[in-house]
Amino acid sequence: MKKWVLGKQFYWVCATTAVFILGIIYASVVYPMQLRKQNEQQIAREEARSLQLAQQQRNVLTRVRSQSEIYLPILLYHYVEVVTDERDTIRQGLSITPQIFESQLTTLLANGFTPITFDDLSAYYAGRAELPPKPVIVTFDDGYRDFYTDAFPILKKHQVKAAIFVVSGFLDYTKNYLTRAQLKEIATSPLIEINAHSVNHPNLTLLSLPNAVWEITESKRALENFLSRPVNHFAYPFGAYSQILAYEVARAGFQTAATVEFGVNQSFTGRFTLKRIRVGGFTGPELLAKMKPEFN
Ligand SMILES: [Zn+2]
Repeated sequence: MKKWVLGKQFYWVCATTAVFILGIIYASVVYPMQLRKQNEQQIAREEARSLQLAQQQRNVLTRVRSQSEIYLPILLYHYVEVVTDERDTIRQGLSITPQIFESQLTTLLANGFTPITFDDLSAYYAGRAELPPKPVIVTFDDGYRDFYTDAFPILKKHQVKAAIFVVSGFLDYTKNYLTRAQLKEIATSPLIEINAHSVNHPNLTLLSLPNAVWEITESKRALENFLSRPVNHFAYPFGAYSQILAYEVARAGFQTAATVEFGVNQSFTGRFTLKRIRVGGFTGPELLAKMKPEFN
């Protein structure tokens, strides 16, 4: 009888101890593991949801922003230099002195304009960024050497962003154009966006389509290869374009393209035919008058 009682007690002690040990194992190992797994799954679910929401928000922003025009003057410059040859009337017509250029920049800054780049415009349309209240883009066509010697130091002095449209085949070509070394140095500045302007500066509308497409794609490829960074924007040589060319520019992977058509309002649907203005030698209030918004 006593033996049976002892056996029974022993049995209960063993069973209780086993349950206790299992309980400890569950509480200290299995349960935290399950909890961690649940937490991870919940965090992953929430993250996926917030990513989805962010993407949806960007899509909505893109849709809304693609439906209205924005006021964005894009200034078109060629030469910033002192033309010493009085017989060179063409160059004089395309040139402004560094002093006038600097005065124009200080007028823009004093009147609340914020220089941006075409990448900033793309980010706005993609719903990834906002635009500053009075955005403006300062552009230089062709890749002339005086951009490096005259304009670039003034842009750096005032910390003004600008975009240059470089003719890739004209680098190192006569003393009129940027050298490759100068372009490499310009590329190190976060202020300057380097964009493409064809290989040989032909009127693209007068070329066969395959030749025009080559001028567009090869200028992008050559500059990207040389600079080891994306070249996202294009300007049509002489501003000459057609709907087919605009389509080819988009197909080549560019995000926007600039013409020389006059206008200060831009739209998402017109992002491959962006309008620009030539401000010439106008300064102060006359410059601001040139940049007035269009009213529809
Ligand atoms: Zn040009």
